[in-house]
Amino acid sequence: MISQLTHPINSPSLADMFEIDDGFSIMAGPCSIESIKQMESIAQVLKQKQIKFMRGGAYKPRTSPYDFQGLGIEGLKLLKDVCKKFSLLSVSEILDPRDIEKAIDYIDVIQIGSRSMPNTALLKEVGKTNHPILLKRGMMSTLKEFLLAAEYIACEGNKNIILCERGIRTIEDSTRNTLDISSVAIIKKETSLSVIIDLSHSLGRKDILLPIANAVIALGVDGIMLEVHDDPSNALSDSKQQLSIQEFEDFYEELSKFRI
Ligand code: PEP
Ligand code: MN
Repeated sequence: MISQLTHPINSPSLADMFEIDDGFSIMAGPCSIESIKQMESIAQVLKQKQIKFMRGGAYKPRTSPYDFQGLGIEGLKLLKDVCKKFSLLSVSEILDPRDIEKAIDYIDVIQIGSRSMPNTALLKEVGKTNHPILLKRGMMSTLKEFLLAAEYIACEGNKNIILCERGIRTIEDSTRNTLDISSVAIIKKETSLSVIIDLSHSLGRKDILLPIANAVIALGVDGIMLEVHDDPSNALSDSKQQLSIQEFEDFYEELSKFRI
């Protein structure tokens, strides 16, 4: 076993966690929650397409402290209100263990971001909840370290874990990160954990989204995540990689053709 799991985690599948019939889920939404207008215009399209999960960051792990840090708890309230209105499930990142208690009621899937994957204190705290956890792979982490991070959560009792491959740092700089599809195949082969692919943060560009989405579907992943914004050129974070609503609709139509 390459993963060398000491305690193979018996986790329900993503579809079972949320009683969804389709074994392939899409999590879409903006990089950062910015406004009600933004959130409602995106949510409406997700609902139309029967997408179940809306993502949006309220606590943003930015490289520079001078960049937009997210709307915090007010952003989460906004996300939850919009998700309720459109019957969607909310996906949002928690960066600081001290925020879990106040944030948990607004988040259906707690995201642990790439920069936080090695933060064992945070992993242990979300492990004490019973909430579904979307654990992203650290950009500098091996597959083994990724799986052991999942074990940190499971060891505290929470087995509701979904893994998310979002690319790792390599010498290649034509994409933002290098999407490690071999690791995804190994996760599928050696564990029973659900795994989704974050296409936006893996690629950092929109022009090759469709062929890569088709390729990862062929891997048998449980879903994909992508960033969609109502006005990408004015987005407060990750402007370059976010799809406009029209681009998302076109992408979705092409993807549906491939899935049939
Ligand atoms: C995100 O999904 O908002 C994010 C910051 O992604 P990552 O942690 O993969 O960089
Ligand atoms: Mn982003």
